[in-house]
Amino acid sequence: MLSVKEAECVGFDSKWRVKKIAATSSSQTDEILKQNSETNTSEKKSIETQTDAPRINYDVKYDVNKLGNFLKRIYPKLAAELDDDSSSSIFKNYCPFDEPIFSKAKIVQTVNVNLEVKDNVASRVNSLSWNSTGNTIAVSSDYPHQNWCHHFGFVSLYTFDRYEMFPEIPSRKVKTGACVRAVAFHPKLPYILSAGTHTGDIYLWNIQHDENEMLVDKIVGHDDSITGMQWIVRNDKNDDMVLATSSTDGFINMWKFSSKAHQLILKRKYKMKPPILQKQPEMTLETDLCKSIGPGILGFHFSYFTPEKFVVAAEGGIVVQCSTLGAQTIIGTTGDTVPILNPCVLFCEPHNDQITTIKFSPNHKEQFLTNSVDGEIRIYLLEQDTPVRVICLKKPLSVVNWVPYHDKVITGCGRFGLEVFNVITSEKYDDVCENEVDELTHMEINSKRPTVVVSGTYDGKMNLWSIPWASFSNSTN
Ligand SMILES: [Zn+2]
Repeated sequence: MLSVKEAECVGFDSKWRVKKIAATSSSQTDEILKQNSETNTSEKKSIETQTDAPRINYDVKYDVNKLGNFLKRIYPKLAAELDDDSSSSIFKNYCPFDEPIFSKAKIVQTVNVNLEVKDNVASRVNSLSWNSTGNTIAVSSDYPHQNWCHHFGFVSLYTFDRYEMFPEIPSRKVKTGACVRAVAFHPKLPYILSAGTHTGDIYLWNIQHDENEMLVDKIVGHDDSITGMQWIVRNDKNDDMVLATSSTDGFINMWKFSSKAHQLILKRKYKMKPPILQKQPEMTLETDLCKSIGPGILGFHFSYFTPEKFVVAAEGGIVVQCSTLGAQTIIGTTGDTVPILNPCVLFCEPHNDQITTIKFSPNHKEQFLTNSVDGEIRIYLLEQDTPVRVICLKKPLSVVNWVPYHDKVITGCGRFGLEVFNVITSEKYDDVCENEVDELTHMEINSKRPTVVVSGTYDGKMNLWSIPWASFSNSTN
């Protein structure tokens, strides 16, 4: 059962050392070659060159007909683009300023502007103007006048401190020979201030100068009381501007202001002459008398958008749309030293009583408003003689203002203090003030910061307001 199997042995040689075969070799990088060579920057030479003096060829010949056709072709497109641009509503309701957190108008400071009381009557604040930086306010005041003014007048200047509050006493005070009726700061030079008095004088001050050297020009501007004053901003880089002044003498005078010489030079005068065939305003007996010499001007305003257009409020409730373009010299006035022109374009439906405010909108170029003692605020459009909106008041307001950046609201002040209206609904906002407010004579919105507003009172006080326009503008009233 058991068997033996034999097998042959197999094996392999073991090796304990393997001899490595190695060959010695060498490597060598190429030798670096160095070479010295000289370099030098290029030589420069200064050479003077002289351009030829520009030669302007004044004798350019052109084809008038072709130019006319070209202008006729491009004008409608250009005009449409410009109109689109100016009436663009892309920034509508956009306000770049911080609105106050409270929802009502609030008086934050009251300053006694004029401590002088004459014949037991305090002077009332009648004109206010912010300078171009929005940090200084000029305040003027007057006494009620029946006849010629025999008072001295003052303009007080208040500059904000770092907390945007006014000092208790004015930073500057300038004196005039009669009560001041209107003040206006230059719209570009924050230190140039003008004022017009009840006796027709125009004063020009540089408020940077020392007290005794502030007056830079004084002229007899009109034969009667000055009623309005506006610096006209032209869209050029030249600082030489025009100051327009109006008076009950029936003229609007245009003064060229030279920023170098700081002088006013009379350039032309405008007088309201109704055209024979146009709609005549219903004249009262008083204005009939004025017809031969022209009605006194109670106010005027030049457009912010098209500086050649302006609107005028004349005695007897007359509202006129005017233009400096195409104004004709009035017959019989050619002997005068400056041209006397008739700028009237359209007589609008007149008010039933004297007009106290006439102002173009800063928001829409075609709108302007009037405010009258007859208790009506009216909104007119250019080229239309009837108002598009009438707001009837319980008591007439002293002054009415548009609100920059808020085209839905207008504001005014008077016997009931401050009032705010919705232009769309013609309704008054209720309960707009946090404080008890005195009767107000005048108000002015700071165009740099529209929520900052000043107003004046019948007893010579100035109020500083903070007014959240957006809370009115956005309300559903
Ligand atoms: Zn006076």
